[in-house]
Amino acid sequence: MNFNSDSKILFILAHPDDEVLGAGGMILKAKSFGASIRIVWLGEGVSARFSENQFNSDDYKKANAIREKGAINAMEVLGVLDYSFGYWHCLRFDQIPFLDITKKIEKEIFNFKPNLIVTHNPVEVNIDHVITFKAVEAAARPVKDKIIPAIWGCEIPCSGRWTLGTKFVPNIYVEIENFIENKILAWSKYKGEARNFPFPRSDEGLKTLAKYRGMEAGVKYAEAFKSWREVL
Ligand SMILES: [Zn+2]
Repeated sequence: MNFNSDSKILFILAHPDDEVLGAGGMILKAKSFGASIRIVWLGEGVSARFSENQFNSDDYKKANAIREKGAINAMEVLGVLDYSFGYWHCLRFDQIPFLDITKKIEKEIFNFKPNLIVTHNPVEVNIDHVITFKAVEAAARPVKDKIIPAIWGCEIPCSGRWTLGTKFVPNIYVEIENFIENKILAWSKYKGEARNFPFPRSDEGLKTLAKYRGMEAGVKYAEAFKSWREVL
């Protein structure tokens, strides 16, 4: 599969920053080939740092605003104009009725009519990522008039690599040598989310993973995905 102006890629992800971490280079590459891209974040990415009785506090609202501003700035670097914020609380997706999540995703699929969905993987430490994957699995049931040609899972450094036991095994590699620097630039917009190497969500961590995945595919830098279903 190659990206082109007929590509309609819908990202269903848990939090703002997952798109840069898991697929920033792929987004830049697909855009360069004229793909249409929509990014949907189901939740915010900061409330795990707060207790529930702080959700109305100024500190919480400020942290959320910073995360959203980071996302808007990152979208500018990625050249993505079509995106939608979500407000389910971070690391508490298990407290949301599963049907509410699948219905929201079904509506997104109906409206955008993607030929590729990119979401999370079930091999994950982050509960929101796992639930997002399961909800996409349910929402993308291949029933009449709703067959989605391809569904991929992207690899999130740290939460996607810190599983005990089973590890994520990709089978799709997107070569991103010309896009790695802008991926890092987009990542720099999420101020406060990066930490120093060897934390995986560091500039060096992201580059190291891209090189590692590149080695597996015979290219300098790559992002890795797993294709969960393709209908040719
Ligand atoms: Zn996330």
